[in-house]
Amino acid sequence: MSIQENQSSPLRPFPNVLGTIGWTPLIHLASISDEIGIPVYAKVEAYNPGHSAKDRIALYMVEKAEREGRLQPGGTLIEASSGNTGYSLAMVAALKGYKTLITVPSKISKEKLNLLKAMGAEVEICPKEAAPEDPRSYYSRAVALSKEIPNSCYLDQNHHLANSEAHYHSTGPEIWEQTEGKVTHFLCASGTGGTISGTARYLKEMNPSVKVIGIDAYGSVLKKYHETNEFHQDEIYSNTLEGVGKSIIPGNTDFQIIDEYVKAADRESALCARQIAREEGLLVGYSSGAVLAGLYKMMDTLQPEDCVVLLFSDHGSRYLSKIFDDDWMTAQGFLDQPEKKRAPRTTPEPAVQKPSIRERVVATFRELAASANLLP
Ligand code: PMP
Repeated sequence: MSIQENQSSPLRPFPNVLGTIGWTPLIHLASISDEIGIPVYAKVEAYNPGHSAKDRIALYMVEKAEREGRLQPGGTLIEASSGNTGYSLAMVAALKGYKTLITVPSKISKEKLNLLKAMGAEVEICPKEAAPEDPRSYYSRAVALSKEIPNSCYLDQNHHLANSEAHYHSTGPEIWEQTEGKVTHFLCASGTGGTISGTARYLKEMNPSVKVIGIDAYGSVLKKYHETNEFHQDEIYSNTLEGVGKSIIPGNTDFQIIDEYVKAADRESALCARQIAREEGLLVGYSSGAVLAGLYKMMDTLQPEDCVVLLFSDHGSRYLSKIFDDDWMTAQGFLDQPEKKRAPRTTPEPAVQKPSIRERVVATFRELAASANLLP
């Protein structure tokens, strides 16, 4: 059942949890829109049942593998994941009777690790510093395990185009419909590139002038590759952001369709995620903070009549021990300067009515009478 079909009759009971994937809300960011003077909306993917955009691709990739005969009943789903795709796959597997084996980099947050296990996935933690071609890396281990384990299927979110197709068929049409075709700018974190590329392909088919801005991390090769068409090894170094940027060129990133990449740093992304919680009441993840940081960097190019959509990939509860933990933030040196205080709302004070002459005469009389003890 496709995501679009799932949502055709939302008042009836859903056949199972997978039926609730997609059709996440588009939410106006009132405080941020006020601040920059342009309407800004967030596509909040934490409303998916697995609390991230990866639910969409997990369901789509598994059903495509089933249709193509790459996945047999009782088989094992294998994926290299920074956590979210693994969790969504484990959720799909729970409903469809598969096993799940996820290789993760050691920088994964504790919450994501525990969530994977809670959903029944088997997890192998791989050294985060291992280069992709290193046999110890989480990419290489996923490939090796898929060769060792009979009746297993490596879904390969980086290169298998089912990833971006899922967003072409769901996220793109949803944003188009929810903005009534008014979206002018789409900002999205780029990891595998599936979310940004699939969504952008649909939006640009509907209106070729929609601007698509990818958010990349410092320590990732994507922005430089987009600008030079060359892979720069010296761009790679470790960072604390999760899910944003890459040390490989993923097949799911359509560099032609992305107009521009903006880099977001670890610290500013963390502070922006905290700002979103405190100003908009939305607890979203670290990469969502990176997207807001990216917006601040390119907002000078926007016009008041533009309509900006930010994609917030996942839920903030996955980062309680990181960006929402003051001790972690302090240890990283991210709280050296005081955090931005919320600007007071610019609601005008109610106009003070001046008392009439009669009211002033009565008040004066009352004061005189009170001082002369004439009043009871
Ligand atoms: N944010 C988070 C938290 C993620 O886990 C990912 C996926 N790695 C992304 C953003 C980027 O999404 P995509 O892989 O579709 O580019």
